[in-house]
Amino acid sequence: MNVKIEPAILSYAVDGRLYSPAFDDVYFQPEDGVAESSYVFLQHNNLEERFKGLRAGDVFRIAECGFGSGLNFLLTLDLWQRMAAKGARLYYLSFEKHPVQKTDMKKIHACWPDYAAVSQALLAQHPAAVKGFHRLDFGSAQLQLCLGDITEMLPQIKTQIDAWYLDGFAPAKNPAMWREGLFRHMARLSVQGSTVSTFTAAGAVKRGLQAAGFYVEKTRGYGKKRDMLTGTYQRDIPKTQTTGSAIVIGAGIAGASCAYALAARGMHVTVLEKAEEAGNAASGNPVGVVYPRLTAAVSAAGDFYTHAFCHTTRILARLENEKLWRNSSVLMLDGGDAAEAKRYAGMVKSTALPEEMLRPVDRKQATEIAGIPLASGGLYYPDAGLVAPREFCTSLLEAFPAQVTLRSGAAAEKIMRQDGVWHVLDAAGEILAEAEHLVLATGPSLTGFSETDFLPLRYVGGQISYLPENAASRKLKAVITQDGYFPPAVEGVHYTGATFEKLRAKAETHPVTEKGHRKNLTMLGGFLPAAFFDGVTPEDLQGRAGIRTSVPDHLPVVGKCPVAAQWLEDYAGLSYGQLTEKQIDLDKAEVHDGLYLCGAFGSHGMTSAPLAGEMIAAQICGDPLPVSEKVAAAIHPGRFILRALKRNQS
Ligand code: SAM
Repeated sequence: MNVKIEPAILSYAVDGRLYSPAFDDVYFQPEDGVAESSYVFLQHNNLEERFKGLRAGDVFRIAECGFGSGLNFLLTLDLWQRMAAKGARLYYLSFEKHPVQKTDMKKIHACWPDYAAVSQALLAQHPAAVKGFHRLDFGSAQLQLCLGDITEMLPQIKTQIDAWYLDGFAPAKNPAMWREGLFRHMARLSVQGSTVSTFTAAGAVKRGLQAAGFYVEKTRGYGKKRDMLTGTYQRDIPKTQTTGSAIVIGAGIAGASCAYALAARGMHVTVLEKAEEAGNAASGNPVGVVYPRLTAAVSAAGDFYTHAFCHTTRILARLENEKLWRNSSVLMLDGGDAAEAKRYAGMVKSTALPEEMLRPVDRKQATEIAGIPLASGGLYYPDAGLVAPREFCTSLLEAFPAQVTLRSGAAAEKIMRQDGVWHVLDAAGEILAEAEHLVLATGPSLTGFSETDFLPLRYVGGQISYLPENAASRKLKAVITQDGYFPPAVEGVHYTGATFEKLRAKAETHPVTEKGHRKNLTMLGGFLPAAFFDGVTPEDLQGRAGIRTSVPDHLPVVGKCPVAAQWLEDYAGLSYGQLTEKQIDLDKAEVHDGLYLCGAFGSHGMTSAPLAGEMIAAQICGDPLPVSEKVAAAIHPGRFILRALKRNQS
């Protein structure tokens, strides 16, 4: 399977129309593309009326194939911003197999000056051509770009769609897309009254939609086109709407990310934090490195970290706080080790990241990028960099002040569900908060509840050392990682490390020791110039230590909380070979209603937690997941129960 995506190759037809040589078809008419798109898609889905009819708390979801230049999206977003009621939310899902590159898109959008504002907002977040899901934010509107073939991606989507735009080139030019499967999945995701419109009037499309349950009409096409199709879904499937509020326990990067993603969807969120401020514990280091943790072969883990990285850097850019993010780039050195170099080559091959986001560099190139002499080459991540963790947590929590309430000094000891509401209590049995949805993002305390004590959480102590900048280290421009990491100085200090100490028992704190500093200096001395450490003595160093939590497969734990005892019963067949994991429908597995887990990020919380938060918010609000089905299964909190059963150890 090809993990990389091929961007669109564009050209212009003799009559000046934007043309795709791959599909031998045009994107739109140059002189009246805007009018045609408005007519076919916006008017024939009756969007103006429907947007006007929405109320606060309502969500309207549109799905499109394919995104192309984004013209339909620009027009829809513009209409939404003019018409929709305050507090209503638009979710626009669009599939694209060959994404138009940002430079091309910019040129195309320049033809539509009336839509300059929405175009600018889109271009500012436009993702690189990385296969998979990308979530972009436009205030009350959200765009999920699904880069890949719709035939592969649509089956993974679970949500409800109100209006469909079928715009994937003419059926005769692109028969692979207009298959029965497309109509079947449209039906699966439609509710009574969902509408569809398309520029084509092809009989096969009409029949396909009819067979799937749409009432279809042929109507006048735009301009010289005689006909087009519109349709309405007829079957009695009601639209469901998520309402209510949520509690998030923990105001580290995991909790802050969940609160941010929920608030972006209009939810009211109470965040309970036992410490006096947000971004404490593992999220309290002075700097954190944000870069993707890739794998040497194609894997769900590699896919998750790639998209987590793309998502986090997009959020950091959007938060627009210059103290928050420094795009210093990251150089991951191979230390001249042939086996490591081979592993890195595997990573380059198996990641969806394009060359502009990840490339191998030799020693000379690495030295040039870093600005200091290096002993080996490795991998270069130009978009990676340094984040200020505590500020990151605070910025996420403060981005929607009307929606998020942080209650610090509130130690949650017990959780309990009664009549569809979660109650969170303190040690004295006093209720701290109540809500329909509850997210546990409690770091090392994730297993501190009877609902979660099945998790095989591991505790790792980690210490960083604060090294004073000197004349040699001041030249450093990129974060260097090998066994540990060494970032450029922030206000005269390199916050570097880290030690890695597996602990036998659960712990919430870890001491800073001289031994820890010694370990860091030995490790860093292995790949950095000796001049960086001139005059440094471990006994004089300052530092910080904390606990990171992880699980045996080193992926995070994100999603609905299984009812462990029920899973052991329901899936006991795994132990006897009577059942395979493939036969289990995770969507139907027994979970604690309204309870979600978000944790076990190891040392990658800054990169991973924002996407995890997005996933939990999507689950709570009924939006499409921002990760593939494979990734969702790989990070599912219930996976350990299934594995234990398979090993026959339960
Ligand atoms: N709606 C677009 C706009 O507003 O600019 C124009 C869409 S253009 C006519 C058709 C798009 O569908 C192309 O960008 C093409 O790459 C995409 N496409 C074609 N087949 C596809 C498939 N199987 N999966 C996803 N996208 C596909």
